[in-house]
Amino acid sequence: MSVVSAEVVVVGAGSAGCVVAGRLAEQGRDVLLLEAGPDYGPVGSGRWPAELLSARMLATTHDWGYTSGRWVFERARVMGGCSSHNGAIAAVGHRADYDGWGLPGWAGDDVAPLFRQVIERMRVRAYEAHEAGPFHARCLDAAADLGWTIASDLCDLDAGASFGLETVNVVGHTRWNAGFAYLDHVRGGSLRVLDEVMVDRLVAWHGAGSSGGTVRLAAERRGEPIVIEGGTVVLAGGVYGTPLLLERSGIGAPEALRAAEGLRSSMNPVFEAIAHHNPYAAEQLPEATWNQMVLKALFIGSALDPIAGLDRRANPRLARMLRDHAHERWAAHRPVNPELWRCVGPFVDADALSDLARVLHGGTPDEQAGAALALHACRLPEAAALLQRHHGLLFAIRNGSLHWSTLAATT
Ligand SMILES: Cc1cc2nc3c(=O)[nH]c(=O)nc-3n(C[C@H](O)[C@H](O)[C@H](O)COP(=O)(O)OP(=O)(O)OC[C@H]3O[C@@H](n4cnc5c(N)ncnc54)[C@H](O)[C@@H]3O)c2cc1C
Repeated sequence: MSVVSAEVVVVGAGSAGCVVAGRLAEQGRDVLLLEAGPDYGPVGSGRWPAELLSARMLATTHDWGYTSGRWVFERARVMGGCSSHNGAIAAVGHRADYDGWGLPGWAGDDVAPLFRQVIERMRVRAYEAHEAGPFHARCLDAAADLGWTIASDLCDLDAGASFGLETVNVVGHTRWNAGFAYLDHVRGGSLRVLDEVMVDRLVAWHGAGSSGGTVRLAAERRGEPIVIEGGTVVLAGGVYGTPLLLERSGIGAPEALRAAEGLRSSMNPVFEAIAHHNPYAAEQLPEATWNQMVLKALFIGSALDPIAGLDRRANPRLARMLRDHAHERWAAHRPVNPELWRCVGPFVDADALSDLARVLHGGTPDEQAGAALALHACRLPEAAALLQRHHGLLFAIRNGSLHWSTLAATT
């Protein structure tokens, strides 16, 4: 298992994580920035998808997919975090409100210089009159007719109650994300960025910080477990990501959100945060809970292929449960997810063989592909003989064009 270390580790390259990592790297600190999503490099790399760059497009492709069914809770999973897919509106509040809070460090005079820095870094500007669409132009006219003050700068703490065209972190038409603003000029220096790293949990943190100890994180990168070590770890996983990480680490209210409870959730993102690309389940769950998790994935239409350790934790009891599930679905004339056969393959007996023969004979092409892969994983001579009769599938398996991941991608 690979181990990566740094003086400061920042988890989450969103709006906050980019600022923290960038500013520490500017001071020459050894910083490792971890992001679950992809890093497309600096602005101008030519690798950024158009919808993330263009402030004129709704960006939806890099979303974590949090939903409660009726409601969607958008959160980006990409370098820059939500600043890479948000509305890019950058407006400050009212001085009177900050002053009214009475909080040390949060008075209008305290926040004003900080806002100025952010405005400069994020290249915030006001839309110009000619950029207003017909709807917005009419709104401004109507507001003026009603006697509202029209403000030219919504980043003015003293603008008061007023109407105006939005101030935005948009350069030309480019959504100027926090990565462009805070990281581009320190990339290649003391900042290292590791993308596609899903941090699962803190596994050790005692003695870290001023006493010079180490914080250790368990993570997964592109399907492989990885350990991250840092003298200081900053959690900047966002409003959903950080609490989940803490709770997986047993900090906060572990009794309320234990993994097994999360697995009972019918919210796919909650379930998948534990089940997908996460070594925790394979390492920690007892067999009965593991088996329920795999079955649950099928119930809620969640893919099996991203479950870390799926093949390693396959077991005869699970194979039996999955075959029962398949029979129930057939009895109700409902389709059976072909990935189901993946955990059956290593434990095929005579009954399972007749199930697979049935699928090979009358299933859809995807179902046949699943059955063929299961037979290929089985050592019984009868399985090999059955598979021999399906040359095309056998050929595809042997030349590598058909395997469980390709099948998962098509189903
Ligand atoms: C659709 C939308 C539009 C918005 N429009 C505006 C707007 O116009 N103006 C405005 O001011 N605000 C807007 N916001 C809000 C603003 O974008 C967010 O408040 C802000 O970006 C949050 O920053 P953050 O650093 O807390 O979290 P995020 O930006 O969400 O960053 C968290 C990062 O951590 C990563 N991460 C999470 N968990 C892990 C893990 N376990 N391992 C590794 N990485 C992990 C995530 O992938 C993400 O990149 C909008 C938000 C959304 C969703």
